[in-house]
Amino acid sequence: MAGSYMGIPREEIPWYPTIDEDLCNNCGNCLDFCDNDVFAQGDLSMEVVNPYNCVVGCNACAKDCPEGAVSFPDKKELVQKLRELRGVTSHS
Ligand code: SF4
Ligand code: SF4
Repeated sequence: MAGSYMGIPREEIPWYPTIDEDLCNNCGNCLDFCDNDVFAQGDLSMEVVNPYNCVVGCNACAKDCPEGAVSFPDKKELVQKLRELRGVTSHS
């Protein structure tokens, strides 16, 4: 259900959480926090099962993680990537 963002297919935008399995204690905070079905609880740690359901530019759940186990790409790199993608996909 990923759809598109600013006319760009969502799957082309590298923005989603990454979980450090060594830090994650599987507490479930991130799963409870996000309504977008991005996460699912694995046996030992949280897993990112629908990365492209993550809202582009959102990193709110990282702040809710008590272990600092959730990370995101650099926002400046995101902006740069979006510029590149819009340049490629724009025909006007
Ligand atoms: S909030 Fe952090 S520690 Fe808790 S399940 Fe999510 S990633 Fe793991
Ligand atoms: S960054 Fe936002 S949309 Fe993405 S997984 Fe976390 S809370 Fe959900």
